[in-house]
Amino acid sequence: MNFYDSERMTDLLKPHGYQLDDNEDDADLIVLNTCHIREKAVEKTYSELGRIRDKIKARKAITGKRSIVAVAGCVAQAQGKEIMKRSPWVDIVVGPQSYQNLPELIAKVDPINKNKNINIDFPIIPKFDQLNAKIEERGPSAFLTIQEGCDKFCTFCVVPYTRGAEYSRPLKSIIDEAKKLIDVGVKEITLLGQNVNAWSSKGLDNLNWGLGRLIDELSKFDELKFIRYTTSHPLDMDIELIKSHRDNKKLMPYLHLPVQSGSDNVLKLMNRKHTSKDYLKIIEKIRDYNPEIAISGDFIVGFPGETDKDHMSTLSLIKQVNYAHAYSFKYSKRPGTPGSVFPNHIDEDIKNFRLYEVQELLRSQQLSFNKKTINSIIKVLVLKKGKKKNQYIGRSPFNQSVYLSSKNENLIGSFIDLNITEAFQNSLTGNILLDF
Ligand code: SAH
Ligand code: SF4
Repeated sequence: MNFYDSERMTDLLKPHGYQLDDNEDDADLIVLNTCHIREKAVEKTYSELGRIRDKIKARKAITGKRSIVAVAGCVAQAQGKEIMKRSPWVDIVVGPQSYQNLPELIAKVDPINKNKNINIDFPIIPKFDQLNAKIEERGPSAFLTIQEGCDKFCTFCVVPYTRGAEYSRPLKSIIDEAKKLIDVGVKEITLLGQNVNAWSSKGLDNLNWGLGRLIDELSKFDELKFIRYTTSHPLDMDIELIKSHRDNKKLMPYLHLPVQSGSDNVLKLMNRKHTSKDYLKIIEKIRDYNPEIAISGDFIVGFPGETDKDHMSTLSLIKQVNYAHAYSFKYSKRPGTPGSVFPNHIDEDIKNFRLYEVQELLRSQQLSFNKKTINSIIKVLVLKKGKKKNQYIGRSPFNQSVYLSSKNENLIGSFIDLNITEAFQNSLTGNILLDF
């Protein structure tokens, strides 16, 4: 979602004379878009800020020009004042729900006297209503935020505090943005939300629509060929969406459905409001409707109070599901969340070992999933050039990176049928069936 927000900020600033630059050494404006989900991400913000300070100092010394520095995103939301205190060279702090105000905040920066601009409001008029910036360029694949925030309050998670209450963007605003993306050549859209499948809005027939209906509506755009969505919550996986995975050929056979733990004790402590059995039932159902679907997920190891037995339950759930891919993390204490003051925090060494066991298992499942695609024909959307000569990188319907080679100079944005010849941990290689 930060990637999407960064793109929208770029769109927003273009009419004000800004353009993206690969090199921050001579940038007039540096926007650091930050993540607060785990402590490591927050630490990164402060180390990046130190690096930026050196850059802007060097620029000032050489050219006499002063760069404007803005910190955006969830660390800005949660620690705005602290950022200003610890890093006084920062001019602007702007939260994820107020970055539509970035042009005005920049205009207010006084180039000589430092004045601080903080905007971390949750505005009454949602940012999307004010974000009318023109979209001029995207690659063949783009993100589109349709839902933000969360009301579920899992005890480990900062999202409800940093991104705010659950909010679904209205249908028309989504369709309008999808159209803009398609007009600039986008062929694949990934719908985004912290709980994207909680999306709901009044539909064209005035009835309440869920994500399945929205995907069906977006499928009506001929030029849009692949649709994806992430991240989903098990409790919001309704039958309409499950059916779309069977009936809608543009909806990719990939589902990222985090469970976090395989232990019901831990799930309860996490306030997930589902059991491991509930989760397994959903997976079974979705496989009934679409047997080839690739399942992905998220796991947290070492939540306070997690015992060896709980950890074994997580390994057992992973074995039962047999994931195509998954993310796993060590529990990270987040200030202000209930979990941070729970008793029985887990020793770091134990967390490391549990993470290792979970990741080894997931790695082997991912490799066997990838290997199963060898000798099959897969339609791939070509996204960009690779590092080697004549090499391209595309994405499979199952969300795998696929390497291919062609002398054709203009393959980016094409859909190509590939015969998969090799499979690795994180990628596949394929040959073009009919090179043209
Ligand atoms: N809404 C999604 C997840 C969004 S947050 C869901 O409910 O499943 C993305 C992922 O970050 C989570 O799935 C979780 O695995 C991880 N995460 C969130 N808070 C964390 C924490 N405090 N420590 C470690 N991982 C965390
Ligand atoms: Fe965080 Fe997801 Fe739980 Fe919401 S449902 S609190 S986003 S982990």
